[in-house]
Amino acid sequence: WSKETVAVVTGGNKGIGFAVVKRLAEVGVNVVLTARDKQKGEGALKRLREQLGVAASQIHFLLLDVSDPNSIKTFASSFKAKFGPTLDILVNNAGVSFNELDENSVGHAECVIKTNFYGPKFVIEALLPLFRSSSSSVTRILNVSSRLGSLNKMRNEEMKKCLENEELKEEEIEEMVKKFLRDVKNGTWKSEGWPSYWTDYAVSKLALNAYSKVLAKNNNNYKLGSNNLKMSVNCFCPGFTKTSMTKGKGTHTADQAASLAATLVLLPSHHLPTGKFFLLRNTNNLA
Ligand code: NDP
Repeated sequence: WSKETVAVVTGGNKGIGFAVVKRLAEVGVNVVLTARDKQKGEGALKRLREQLGVAASQIHFLLLDVSDPNSIKTFASSFKAKFGPTLDILVNNAGVSFNELDENSVGHAECVIKTNFYGPKFVIEALLPLFRSSSSSVTRILNVSSRLGSLNKMRNEEMKKCLENEELKEEEIEEMVKKFLRDVKNGTWKSEGWPSYWTDYAVSKLALNAYSKVLAKNNNNYKLGSNNLKMSVNCFCPGFTKTSMTKGKGTHTADQAASLAATLVLLPSHHLPTGKFFLLRNTNNLA
């Protein structure tokens, strides 16, 4: 990796995001660690300096709350001022979940959809003009998603068909998400056939997976492994990982999940996939 390579990681102050920042810095990438809280972001940077020593000099911190369009706008301006249009890699990692019980409050559903679906979407839209553009550069986007957002979790057949359609459009995904929030408000989300487990989280990741596929497909240069590949957009489910989201439970550590995430975004251009979903089942098995 050239010393010029620049990556942005959202939700980098802890968990998988923190571990991805660390891994990318270890291999020599310039990483912008972002967090929604200044103190937490600076604290993470301090811990990385202690752990990595000199390799941490390539890590920079900028504030970014992915659920706040104004914060995204400010972040994009700060990034542009500091780095110019040199972005190579975006890891949309920030995410929330509240689904421990069989409940689905309107406030939680709105927050989860805003953070896990609109967050990555708006961050991508704001940063697209800031990706490096040269004949050899490839825009690399990895959306950290979940297998809970797999299509087979959707029980509403009509909606499932719509999402499976190869001609699916971004607007249809947004319509789906709006309908979900209406159904939560009306108390009809169970009868309308939305995923029955971790419902709002599953819907947010379902929408993120669908959006990633549409984005990959709509890229004019979409051609696997060809020199024409200009954008690689994939989803990655880290599997059951020991972080605060799982209250420390899991089959593997955040560092193990991050190592795979980093490998995916650093693949050589001629091996880069796009429009794919990668799942880390356990540390011996990548599906
Ligand atoms: P953590 O709860 O440990 O970390 C989540 C990170 O996202 C934190 O840095 C948090 O910041 C940040 N975040 C939350 N909301 C926002 C926001 N609005 N703006 C910016 N940052 C925000 O969870 P994980 O590390 O486990 O999760 C990382 C990703 O992996 C998520 O997208 C999650 O859905 C996904 N995932 C995790 C699995 C697991 O088993 N752990 C399984 C499948 C997917 P703060 O500290 O301020 O809250």
